[in-house]
Amino acid sequence: MNRTDTILIAGGRVYDHDGDTDQPAYADVLIEGDRIARVGPHLAATVGAVGRTIDGRDKLVVPGFVNAHYHSHDALLKGCFETIPLELWLLRALPPSWPKRSKEEVRARTLIGAVEALHSGITTIQDMLTVFPFDPEHVEVALDAYQELGVRTVFALQIGNIPGVERVPFWKEMIPPDKHRYLSASVEPFAGIHPIDAVMAEYARHRGRRSLVDWALGPTSPEFCTPDFLERLAALSAEHALPVYMHINESKAMTLAGRLFMPEHGGSQVKYLRATGLIGPRVNLAHSIWMLPEEIDILAETGTNVVLNPVGNMKSKSGVPPIRDFLVRGVNVALGCDNCACSDAQNMFQGMKMLAALSAASEIEPGPPSAADALRAATLGGARTAGLERALGAVKPGRKADLSLIDLTSPAFVPFNSAARQLVFTESGGDVETVIVDGQVVLDRGRVTTISESELRDAIQVLMPGVRRDLAVVETRVKELEPYLMRAYRKAMAADVGTNRLIGQK
Ligand SMILES: [Zn+2]
Repeated sequence: MNRTDTILIAGGRVYDHDGDTDQPAYADVLIEGDRIARVGPHLAATVGAVGRTIDGRDKLVVPGFVNAHYHSHDALLKGCFETIPLELWLLRALPPSWPKRSKEEVRARTLIGAVEALHSGITTIQDMLTVFPFDPEHVEVALDAYQELGVRTVFALQIGNIPGVERVPFWKEMIPPDKHRYLSASVEPFAGIHPIDAVMAEYARHRGRRSLVDWALGPTSPEFCTPDFLERLAALSAEHALPVYMHINESKAMTLAGRLFMPEHGGSQVKYLRATGLIGPRVNLAHSIWMLPEEIDILAETGTNVVLNPVGNMKSKSGVPPIRDFLVRGVNVALGCDNCACSDAQNMFQGMKMLAALSAASEIEPGPPSAADALRAATLGGARTAGLERALGAVKPGRKADLSLIDLTSPAFVPFNSAARQLVFTESGGDVETVIVDGQVVLDRGRVTTISESELRDAIQVLMPGVRRDLAVVETRVKELEPYLMRAYRKAMAADVGTNRLIGQK
């Protein structure tokens, strides 16, 4: 019997989180439909004819990475910015500062971000998308792009109901009132529709329509959401079993917003969330940098997940998260690549290496995370944020067939001393050869199979003059605001928030 929806990966070494992470065992992998059916030695002799056999010799088979924090809205802005503070960056890069984009641009940016991700072995993308001004057609275009490309997506619309000028510390009082209309956060309140109503209408319209798209909720961050807003999202998350992705304590200024605007919660954004009920295993807190020990305890006690984005956090001067504290206290740690305009790469190898290296640079004693810990964060940790920890993150029977084949003849793996350490410390992503998502080969020996990359490049080339024109306008405006923004930024950086997460600063 020749079953066309079966794939046999024959003769490779299969990375197993629970096995020998230095010298993974040789095993064949049988994929039936969207699932891994069997993993074991010499399967070829027993399974009969299959739709396709992939030669796994000199290959390492690894679980697909789960990028647990990303935004596709600025995917065309990679390489546009130097290392600038988060609050100056967001005014340049994020949708509320920009005129409305075209559907063609939404499609192109969604695809190029996801194509870059696939090339480095990311098989699941958590896209926390800002559609501003809100337009249901843009949601449709983005979801169709993911499904067509064949990458798994956990989709959340980013929403909030308090304007940026009200909650970024010192903006309102230090920036002239006639400039306030140019000040915005990652998302602003929608005009004419309650943001949660907009999200739930989209959820009702799209749920179950695309095999690769799961839904989640995306309140931007606690300080931009009123208590009743968060309480309603907590109820919806429970009712529909929807994961929740949110930023928290990313920059020092964001942390200071908690101290200034949440006095009834001791200035703690985490305690504010706990009071609204938006905490627990379905809640995923991106960045979590400026966390106090008692806040980490709350995350551990409630099973709340953190999603660390070490590369973008360095570039935006946000700081170093308490990585080891999270791991030692049993907080689930996932990894994200965050925005193309601040990370800038959609590359989990960079993220894993930075996770291990930053923890090393901020702790005197040797200790976690190990390379294998970083790989767990990039796979199983991310899967857990979506409630998919039993479906994704490992090459094991019964799981979704989301995996990559990595070329072990590359100099990065010669000599082959340790799969885990060479994946984390040596590999850069260029040796990801073949990627399978949901049982479909979407990257075949380095080439995307589902769309034309050259047509996508051509489409982006057509779009870029308009993007660059708008960027120039945004840049000019932010430059005029910069003296005021810098004063507010410096005042926030001089404040005491009870912890320090910046290297070399007292
Ligand atoms: Zn983000």
